[in-house]
Amino acid sequence: MQNFTLHTHTIGFDGKNTIAEMVARAAQLGMNAIGISNHFIVHPEITNAKFYPFSVARGYKNIYSSSFDEAIKLFMSHYQELERIAASANIRILRGMEVDFFPSVTWRRGFEQALKILQPDYLIGSCHFIEYDGVLCNVHDMAKADIDTQNQMLHQYWQNVATAAGAGLFDWMAHLDLPKKVGLGSEPQWDGCWASAVSAISANKTAIEINTGLATDFYPSAQILKMIANANIPVFISDDAHSVDQVARHFENAMDFAHNCGVNNFMTLDTILR
Ligand SMILES: [Zn+2]
Ligand SMILES: [Zn+2]
Repeated sequence: MQNFTLHTHTIGFDGKNTIAEMVARAAQLGMNAIGISNHFIVHPEITNAKFYPFSVARGYKNIYSSSFDEAIKLFMSHYQELERIAASANIRILRGMEVDFFPSVTWRRGFEQALKILQPDYLIGSCHFIEYDGVLCNVHDMAKADIDTQNQMLHQYWQNVATAAGAGLFDWMAHLDLPKKVGLGSEPQWDGCWASAVSAISANKTAIEINTGLATDFYPSAQILKMIANANIPVFISDDAHSVDQVARHFENAMDFAHNCGVNNFMTLDTILR
C-alpha cells in the first residue's frame, strides 16, 4: 500500500477539514507523509467567468485569484500554518500546490516569481479551465455547450494538458481526463488527443496520478492508463481528498487497476520530491 498522500485540500480553500484534521487522519491510517495541495488558480479574468458566482456562493472564493500578488499573500499565511502544524506532527507534512496552468507568457512569468517566494515542495499540474472564445470555461460549461462547441472545447482541453505537461513546471499531472466528470471525452475518437498528451508527458519526464476522486471510476481511464504504462511514465495514487473521510480512499482498488493496466513504474515519495 502506498503510505503517503499528496493531493489533498483543506478548509479556507475548497476542502471541508482543517490541516490539523487531515494530518491526524493520515497519521491514523499509518501514512508516513501527507502533502496539502490547495488550488492555485490565477487569471486576470477569473472573476468574469460563468462559474465564478457559483464558487463564491459555495464559499470557495479563495481558490481563485485575479493576480499573483493576491495568491501569494494567501499561500504565505497558509504555508506558515502548515509549518506551525508540522513542527509538532508525528508524520511528515509537505507544502504542495494544485496549479491551474494557463498557456501565456505573462502567466508563466508571474508563476515563476510566485515559486521563488513560496518555495513549495512539489507542484501538481491541472487543467480545470480552458479559454474558449475569450471566456474561461470549466467542464460544467463544456457539458452545457452544443456538440460542435463541446468538441472544440475538448480538443482545446487536451491541447492544454499537453502544453502544461510540456511546460516542464509540474511534478505530475492531475486527473488527466477530467471532462469525464461530466461524461465527456471518453469515446475512442479521442485517442489521438490522449496519445498527444501522453507523449508530451513522456517527453518531459512528468509523472501522472491515478486519481480516486470520482465515485464511479478513476482518472485516467483504463485506455489512457495503458498508454501511460506503455510509455513507462511514472504513476502513483492520489485521493484528491477534500475531507478526512476521503484520505486514502480506494487506494487498494487503484493499485489493482494500475497492475491490470500494465503499470510497473510506481513513484515513491523520494522520487516525487525534488
Ligand atoms: Zn483538480
Ligand atoms: Zn484537487
